[in-house]
Amino acid sequence: MSTFLPYGRQWIDEDDIAAVAAVLRGDWLTQGPTVDAFEADIARLTSARFAVAFSNGTTALHAACAALGLGPEDEVITTPITFTASANCVRYVGATPVLVDIEAKAATIDPARLEAAIGPKTRAIIPVHYAGQPARMEEISAIAKRHGLAILDDAAHALGATVGGSPIGSGRFSDMTMFSFHPVKHVTTGEGGAITTNDEKLRDALRLFRSHGITRDPARLHAPSPGPWYQEQILLGHNFRLTDIQAALGRSQLGKLERFVARRREIAARYDALFQPVRGVEPVGRLEGTEHAFHLYVVRIDFAGLGKSRAEVMIALRERGIGTQVHYVPVHHHPSYADRGWGPGSFPVADAFYAEALSIPMFPAMQDADVDRVVSALVEVLGV
Ligand SMILES: *Cc1c(COP(=O)(O)O)cnc(C)c1O
Repeated sequence: MSTFLPYGRQWIDEDDIAAVAAVLRGDWLTQGPTVDAFEADIARLTSARFAVAFSNGTTALHAACAALGLGPEDEVITTPITFTASANCVRYVGATPVLVDIEAKAATIDPARLEAAIGPKTRAIIPVHYAGQPARMEEISAIAKRHGLAILDDAAHALGATVGGSPIGSGRFSDMTMFSFHPVKHVTTGEGGAITTNDEKLRDALRLFRSHGITRDPARLHAPSPGPWYQEQILLGHNFRLTDIQAALGRSQLGKLERFVARRREIAARYDALFQPVRGVEPVGRLEGTEHAFHLYVVRIDFAGLGKSRAEVMIALRERGIGTQVHYVPVHHHPSYADRGWGPGSFPVADAFYAEALSIPMFPAMQDADVDRVVSALVEVLGV
C-alpha cells in the first residue's frame, strides 16, 4: 500500500529546522529582529511597502478591520464560499457582514452582484482569492472607488498569485491584504499571518492593535513622558504577535515559495490534462489575466448525475489512501450566522457550488505518479 495522500500538507526540511534552532539559541524568542526581517521579506515578495506579522491569519483579519475603524454602524461585504474567518473578522469589531454570491466559473465573489449589495452603511469589501485564484480585483476595485469603500483582500490561499501582472498583496487593487501561514497554506510558521499595505497610517494602526494598543511613541502619548519606563495604552488592542521562533521558520520557508508555487502549477496542469476526457468531473474555472497559486485543487463533480453521494466517494477514496475535503461549508450554512436570516438556499450559485465541490490532494511534495494515482482512483470510484 502506498503512502496516504492528504488534500494538503506542509513541506519542512532540515534547513527550516536549523533556522528555528538558531533563534532558540539566541536572545530573542519574541519581539526581536527575526519578526522584522520576516516582515521585510513578505513586503519584498509581494511588492508592498509594509508587512505586519500576526499570530495567525484570523487575528490579522481582525486587526485589519480594527485598523479600518469599522464598528457597529458598518457593513462589510464578503463571499459565502470561504473559511468563516473572512466573515467573523467583521463581527469581532461589532460590524455586520453582508454576503454577495459567487460567480459559477471561478467561485470568487461576483462583481456583477456586488453593486446591488452596497448600501449607505457599506464601508469595505473582503474579496477572497478562493483556492489561489485571484478574484476579479480590477472590477472590484473600480466599484469600491465609485462608492468610497476600502478593500481588504483575504489572500490566505494566494501567496505567489498575480493579478494584472502584479503580485497579490502589492496593494495595486486593495488597501490591505491578509496572508495565512497555517501548515496547509503555501508556506508555514505553524500558526501565523500577515497584512501587507502601502499606507503608513494603516501599518501603524495594525502594529498598535497587535500589541495591546500600547505605545511609547512620544508623538502619540497623551501626557508628557515622565521617564524611560513610560508607555500608554491609547486604545484596546490585543496580544496578536508572532514569535521570532515562528518568523525564523517563515523566513526559511519563504525562500522556497517560488519553487513551491511552480510545483503546484505543474501538478495543476497535470490534473487538468488528465481530467480533460473524464465525464462528470470539472476542474473549477480560471480567470483571465491572473496567475493562480493553487493552494487547493478543487473539482466539481456531478454527484447527482453520476448517482453517487459525496460522502461515499470521500470514504472510498480514503480507503484507497487518498484524502479529500470540501472547501467550504458556506458561511450562510453555519448556525452561528442563522440570526441573519440566512440558511441553505440563500445564495444559489454558492449552494450549487457547495453541492459539487471536492478538494483533491495538492501539495508541492506530490510526485507525478501521485497525481496519476488520484485521478485513476477517482475515475474508478465514480465509475466514469
Ligand atoms: C486559513 C484561512 C484563514 C485564516 O487563517 P488562519 O491562519 O488559519 O487563522 C482565513 N481565510 C481563509 C480563506 C483561509 O483559508
